[in-house]
Amino acid sequence: MDQTAAMILIIFSVLCLLLHIGLMVYWHWTNKKTVPWFGRDDIDSHLNVLEISDVTVFLINKNSFSPFAKRINMDTRKGFTLYSVTSFLHECGHALQEKDDSGLTRIRTFTYAMQLLGTIGILASTIVYSYPIHNAVFFIGILIVIHYAVTVMNEWDANKKARKQISILPFSPKERIQCMILTHSYTLSYMNLLTLFAICFILFLL
Ligand SMILES: [Zn+2]
Repeated sequence: MDQTAAMILIIFSVLCLLLHIGLMVYWHWTNKKTVPWFGRDDIDSHLNVLEISDVTVFLINKNSFSPFAKRINMDTRKGFTLYSVTSFLHECGHALQEKDDSGLTRIRTFTYAMQLLGTIGILASTIVYSYPIHNAVFFIGILIVIHYAVTVMNEWDANKKARKQISILPFSPKERIQCMILTHSYTLSYMNLLTLFAICFILFLL
């Protein structure tokens, strides 16, 4: 690869990073906007409408879904904000994936395990059998890219399912648009991370 191509990759990665920071600022801002029409009491009825009432919601300091514990974590430290409610709809999207048995969350768990075990194995080979560092980085990089590519597909699908829930909640027209932007920005942030990593990976291998 010539210098111009490397320069373009570096500029592109900086742009991805800036976009990522911009998205985080937007998330922070939407996490200050409390929505008056959604609270603790509305959680169960929403789960009932989606027919995922076997899922338990915990109000703690992070947003996530565990397919094994059938548990949604919702971060409400700033209250029921546009950001926290949208994140909740996103996690409900993951729960719906499980209900539909789409297998996406399980494939993601599998690629994560593959990435983790593969990395340990390759690093051990490098240390014990003096496996070339360059090759080790190449294979670890491939494992990470595969895992992130699966993650992007999984998140894109969960965000699509989150957008479908907008119509069953009393969003104002403005909040509805902001919620749509948020769900798209979640997917974009994962794509940014994948792009950033892929660029670093290519630059390292040069
Ligand atoms: Zn997600």
